Amino acid sequence: MTETNTAQTTDTGTNADALAPFADAAKALVDRCMAEPANEEDIAIVERQLGRYPRGMVAVGARCACGRPLAVITRPMLPGGIPFPTTCYLTSPEAVKAASHVEAEGGMREYNELLASDESVRDAYHDAHLRYLAFRHELALRLGDSEEHIADTSAGGMPTRVKCLHALLAQTLVMGSGVNPIGDLTLERIVGEFSPTVCRCSVED
Ligand SMILES: [Zn+2]
Repeated sequence: MTETNTAQTTDTGTNADALAPFADAAKALVDRCMAEPANEEDIAIVERQLGRYPRGMVAVGARCACGRPLAVITRPMLPGGIPFPTTCYLTSPEAVKAASHVEAEGGMREYNELLASDESVRDAYHDAHLRYLAFRHELALRLGDSEEHIADTSAGGMPTRVKCLHALLAQTLVMGSGVNPIGDLTLERIVGEFSPTVCRCSVED
């Protein structure tokens, strides 16, 4: 998994009208995040998962069956004015490892071929991109963060390529199945190694 912002992201041209169909879902998800903002215990666990302090962590976006964070919601602008496009960020070491295994065995090439050959997957993947942008846009509005440098940037290679399964899996965990087809396929594929419904957490409390 890359630690840089840019490698998990891609650019496209997107206008506000394209996000409108996803605005209600975005608002509901931001409401959920704001209702339960990150607390000190969550931040401490994520710091141990990542091996660094999770700057700009707004909330836990998805939890393990045991309650520990699996993916976090990070604000669009980090303290210090650093744009951060990977709003849904995978933190579970078990999930990170499992996604890396799929990448190592050629999963990204397979999924890129699937995108190229299957129009319905391609359309769904593009919608996943728009849902990602709509969510971050709503988050940016609520937090007063600028999106100037990341407005059309989602994550993981969306909307046309698969470049980072960690970012796509994070979206599936945060937004649920049926949103990102490649994130869903990744989760199905690693279920023997990682699942949000089976605690395999190794991080110490
Ligand atoms: Zn767990």
